[in-house]
Amino acid sequence: MTTATDALMPYDEVLERFDPVLGLEVHVELGTATKMFCGCPTAFGAPPNTQVCPTCLGLPGSLPVVNGVAVESAVRIGLALNCTIVDWCRFARKNYFYPDIPKNFQISQYDEPIAVDGRFDIELEDGATFRVRIERAHMEEDTGKSLHVGGSTGRIHGAEYSLLDYNRAGVPLIEIVTKPITGTGARAPEVARVYVAALRDVLRGLGVSDVRMDQGSLRCDANVSLMPKGATEFGTRTETKNVNSLRSVERAVRHEMQRQAAVLAAGGTVVQETRHFDENTGFTRPGRVKETAEDYRYFPEPDLVPVAPDTEWVIGLRKALPEPPAERRRRVQTDWDLSDLELRDMVNAGALDLITATVDAGAPAAQARSWWMSYLSQEANTRGIELAELPITPVEVARVVALVAEGGLTNNLARQVVDGVLAGEGTPDEVVESRGLAVVSDDSSLVAAVDEALAAQPDVVEKVRGGKVAAAGAIVGAVMKATGGKADAKRVRELVLERCAQ
Ligand SMILES: [Zn+2]
Repeated sequence: MTTATDALMPYDEVLERFDPVLGLEVHVELGTATKMFCGCPTAFGAPPNTQVCPTCLGLPGSLPVVNGVAVESAVRIGLALNCTIVDWCRFARKNYFYPDIPKNFQISQYDEPIAVDGRFDIELEDGATFRVRIERAHMEEDTGKSLHVGGSTGRIHGAEYSLLDYNRAGVPLIEIVTKPITGTGARAPEVARVYVAALRDVLRGLGVSDVRMDQGSLRCDANVSLMPKGATEFGTRTETKNVNSLRSVERAVRHEMQRQAAVLAAGGTVVQETRHFDENTGFTRPGRVKETAEDYRYFPEPDLVPVAPDTEWVIGLRKALPEPPAERRRRVQTDWDLSDLELRDMVNAGALDLITATVDAGAPAAQARSWWMSYLSQEANTRGIELAELPITPVEVARVVALVAEGGLTNNLARQVVDGVLAGEGTPDEVVESRGLAVVSDDSSLVAAVDEALAAQPDVVEKVRGGKVAAAGAIVGAVMKATGGKADAKRVRELVLERCAQ
């Protein structure tokens, strides 16, 4: 048994002596309204065991029926990853016992998956393209959830009792499996992270899942092995399960490389096993010794007919695929005339979709970018949340931009409107109304304020009349103060000069 005191080889030394090989398995929970083989709803967070029926509880006599939308999503995912969609495939039973799987088998696909042999080009941080080959994408059902109560770790060891929630049992999953990824060298951890991030973008673009890693709707199992330099055979791999953030994917791969290298260098052997990544220590710890496919006694699912996607239907789905995220980025970069760095900053800030949506809602690209990348980014940073989690929508930002363009708001007032929206005070128009933020554009009230300011500072008026136009700034400032910043400064200046000239 290895622990958090595992020996680790320095990363540079690992790369001098070994070549890493990765295999990434990503499970994505589909956002279908109902489960894979029954009509139960799939919404996240419902009270335990309220979204269940005889089929997903595995009761005797119940029979599964395939969810057509899930099949369509599987085909679209396969197409987006440049896979071949087979014209005939079957479900298979994967037999094992675990309390969260009430049938004692999981319906999955084994040697007859729906999508095979794809490729997916990802863009690394320095702009280099790396091609990941896709082995397969197959359909299956999710398991229920166990909750171990009473222990300190949340694991079954030391727990007093366990609770089971079958709401998730039978939720449609697509598992996407890469072929062995070689040739990454030092960049293996980065490749793993970027692959999962790029895959998440594609799945989000397809609209098939909410791809929330924090809620488990996107989960990554990272297989890692090492080959001594010059070797041609892959080493024994470990599989780090259910890594639930992009950063953890990168850390887990790096850690496994360093841990395995230390084991091999000390003359030991790497055990083929599943491992769990500990977010706190950055270490992996062993789970169960890895089963082989034979252990599961796969056989074709006798309760379901084969799935044979119609060729014309698949062609139609291919034609209707959204623009791939990488191509979209290139197009946006050209359309908006952005540098590589500007584009990367937007992507890294998670702002691209938000800015695009703001532009779609009518805002000029420059203003949309400016709001999301500066004022709102700062706000998200302060709150410690993602930009997309801010309680303001692209449509609302576009409305604020429009109000400024129409002259209804100054930039300063616009920020106060945004603050109001973020504080939950309503839409931009509602905030303008309730906070009384509209620009004072009525000349008669402005003229009165200007005259008052002029009367209060006769010395300034003399200076302006004497040709020192810059002195008018003091009057403009006084008017802006008197109107609570709600006047259009440019118009105030015009009025000041007009009144002085009289
Ligand atoms: Zn059900």
